Amino acid sequence: MIVGRFAPSPTGPLHTGSLVAAVGSYLMARRGGGRWLVRMEDLDSPRVVPGCGDDILWTLEALGFAWDGAVVRQSERGELYQEALDRLIALGAAYPCGCSRAEIARVATAPHDGDGEFIYPGTCRNGLPAGKSARGWRVRTTAEPIRFEDLVLGPLVFQLPSLCGDFVVKRSDGLFAYQLAVVVDDALQGVNQVVRGADLLSSTPRQIHLQQLLGYATPEYAHLPLVTGPGGAKLSKRDNVVSSASTGINIKDASRLIFGALAFLGQNPPPDLATAPPAELLGWGVDNFGVAAVRSCRPGPFPVPDNRSFDQ
Ligand code: GLU
Repeated sequence: MIVGRFAPSPTGPLHTGSLVAAVGSYLMARRGGGRWLVRMEDLDSPRVVPGCGDDILWTLEALGFAWDGAVVRQSERGELYQEALDRLIALGAAYPCGCSRAEIARVATAPHDGDGEFIYPGTCRNGLPAGKSARGWRVRTTAEPIRFEDLVLGPLVFQLPSLCGDFVVKRSDGLFAYQLAVVVDDALQGVNQVVRGADLLSSTPRQIHLQQLLGYATPEYAHLPLVTGPGGAKLSKRDNVVSSASTGINIKDASRLIFGALAFLGQNPPPDLATAPPAELLGWGVDNFGVAAVRSCRPGPFPVPDNRSFDQ
């Protein structure tokens, strides 16, 4: 049975980009009668906005989503991530790193495609150089290519040394890195299908590498086209906010949003369903979902029926 999930970070209210990930993961999990989980990725405490997690859950409910089981919160799972890190250390696959961001930026060649992250030059790989003390932990990468078949993008191959180099699994502020937490949670929650925005594509080979080291199965992956601003501009999390418990959402807006997300994913919902309750629209999406239509979609602005804008 498929076990999918939606894993929002509560650093802002639900926006149209995360809505598309929620709808895509929901349809792909539910179409064969699978389970769909919601996990709150509230690990990065400095970036978490208080109240946002509940707000996102409120909005999901208002949009007709129903998830299976209790919502898992990463902020409560530090011991599980530590256990995984201990296993990596015992395998000799993780090592302490004493480099600051500025030091890495000085030595590294170029930041990798726009995510602002530098390829780690390996300074602490063979032991902390004299005078340096451990700030965080990195996992060793190898030249072995990482291959996977993306359900939307097709066969892909990545080389970690030229993508990111040895990457952080525990940060210098003591927080576990997203890459490690996601891998542990997906494995322990039995997630076997990960559907998310293409902005996370470069994380996938890192996560597969960690799965291989930790002896976890690799889920199937689907990376969805990204919602952009006009003219392809990158959308910030504050743009295109869907709604929040404080602003509320009326049923017509909820229907338009689900209709828009289905259309964005190439699913062609019938116009006479445009005003159907959102749960009914999602039901239509589940019954009629086709991955081939997603493959022909391109990144672009979120379509809003009736020319109504949600980005006030
Ligand atoms: N929490 C991540 C985000 O909101 C998504 C993680 C994932 O789907 O793997 O960007």
